[in-house]
Amino acid sequence: MKQDGRNRTKAYAAGALALLAFATACGGNGDGAAAAPADRTTAPAAPQPTGGAAVAPAAAGTPTAAPAAGDAAWTKWNLKPLAPAPAPPADKPIKLERTGTVPVFSDVKTNDKVVFITIDDGAEKDPKFVEMLTDLKVPISMFLTRDIVKNDYGYFKPLQALGNHIQNHTVDHPVMSKIPPEKQKSEVCDDQSALTQQYGTAPLLFRPPFGDGANTPTLNSAVQQCGPRAIVLWRETMQIHDMQYQGEKKLKPGDIILAHFRGPKELKGATMTEMFGELLARIQEQGFSVARLEDYIQAPAS
Ligand SMILES: [Zn+2]
Repeated sequence: MKQDGRNRTKAYAAGALALLAFATACGGNGDGAAAAPADRTTAPAAPQPTGGAAVAPAAAGTPTAAPAAGDAAWTKWNLKPLAPAPAPPADKPIKLERTGTVPVFSDVKTNDKVVFITIDDGAEKDPKFVEMLTDLKVPISMFLTRDIVKNDYGYFKPLQALGNHIQNHTVDHPVMSKIPPEKQKSEVCDDQSALTQQYGTAPLLFRPPFGDGANTPTLNSAVQQCGPRAIVLWRETMQIHDMQYQGEKKLKPGDIILAHFRGPKELKGATMTEMFGELLARIQEQGFSVARLEDYIQAPAS
């Protein structure tokens, strides 16, 4: 859990803005990203531990807005209800291609008053968080690191079953720009194959630890060779009680928020559900709702 992202701000001019957040974004088991081209019109793929690496079909049809939780559910968690998310756009703001350079983005162009929550690494596996998301039905995207989740892949399956996608965040969370190209490739490819085997659907998105290397040709090439079709960064980083913003201290439509699966050891005694409740409260008081990131992204035609 060391803060090894701290001294990297000189790295890339192109990623400088995002790097502002890295120092604290990814302490220890930082950030991560991977997305799956699951079909929202069907139930999430059942886990296929037998190794069937079937890729779910690209999103088809018109997804509907996620079911809203009732007021009682919010009260149970001492929260004010979030406004329900609007129906996902039929014309996706982000359209991914099957081949070529993968785009890098930290927000989504939309006028919808929505933000997207991404949760990285997978260290803390708190059953109460599964209960909380089951109650509140807030969509998240999970960027999982193989060696951090492999002691309990099963923990994430009920979260996936709620419609949440699992995305790629490397094998063991290195600083990508510090390792050779072939190692960068295996970090992405080996997480891709492990997550595909465990969760039955191939991640569509990738997030490098600490956001490091996101704008380098070497990492882009590695990602291209392993399957994900976009590199996802973020605009805000959730701490314990509030978010760290880039620039103006307020959310904007389409912002991607980085949070982590963390527990009391990393959160100064706060639990994962307390941290997540604080995050929802910060979103609610600014009048935003939470939408599903993958509903705003068009996967490549298969
Ligand atoms: Zn991470």
